[in-house]
Amino acid sequence: MKILIADDSLFMRNVLKDVFSKENYELIEAENGKETLEKYNVAKPDLVLLDIIMPEVDGIEVLKKIGATAKVIVISAVGQEKMVEKAKKLGALDYITKPFDNEKVLEAVRKALG
Ligand SMILES: [Mg+2]
Repeated sequence: MKILIADDSLFMRNVLKDVFSKENYELIEAENGKETLEKYNVAKPDLVLLDIIMPEVDGIEVLKKIGATAKVIVISAVGQEKMVEKAKKLGALDYITKPFDNEKVLEAVRKALG
């Protein structure tokens, strides 16, 4: 299984990579929304972990493009109900707020891929 980790923060990408260190996933990274769309189209990941606030193209714009077909879990510091609703309406399977519990992320990923 291939997972695309899309977050503009290198620290956060590394935290997420650590979460999956004992799992057998192939991990790809993108540091903005534009790169996320490019890598999604080329690598065809099974799941996208998507940040909302990113430069160039933000997570909402990414969801508008791929949310209907891709499996996407949003992982964002933005916890407002309006944003959660918007993301889910655009196709996000789940919405996890930062800071997150590692187990919660693993559970959501397993559920999305299972
Ligand atoms: Mg961000």
